[in-house]
Amino acid sequence: MTREEAFERLSKSKFRNSFRLTRADLEQAGRYGRETVRRHLADFVREKLAPAIPEKDGRQTPYRGHPAFKAMHGCAMCCRVCMNRWWKVPEGVRLSEARQRKAVDFMMAWLDRRGAWKGA
Ligand SMILES: [Zn+2]
Repeated sequence: MTREEAFERLSKSKFRNSFRLTRADLEQAGRYGRETVRRHLADFVREKLAPAIPEKDGRQTPYRGHPAFKAMHGCAMCCRVCMNRWWKVPEGVRLSEARQRKAVDFMMAWLDRRGAWKGA
């Protein structure tokens, strides 16, 4: 599946498509800038998703408080159950560095497409 096809598929999910960047998200993204948001996103992926069995899986990603959280929900990369369901990433196995980077790249593209840096 290409990145375009993946975005197309997500856009057809009413739930995934319901995650929007609010004014507060945009302000925060603009304040941090793209590089910092990417670093935070990489930290969240490493801490919340990469472990073979993440703590509180299914409830580890807040719904607000950081634009990266919106991207995680919008991209179905909020927990290992969703990552398995949407991306066929097996549960119970630690995410490789390459898989983590791929996830971060995809979510950064999600943010780019939503004009997250307009306020920068
Ligand atoms: Zn989830």
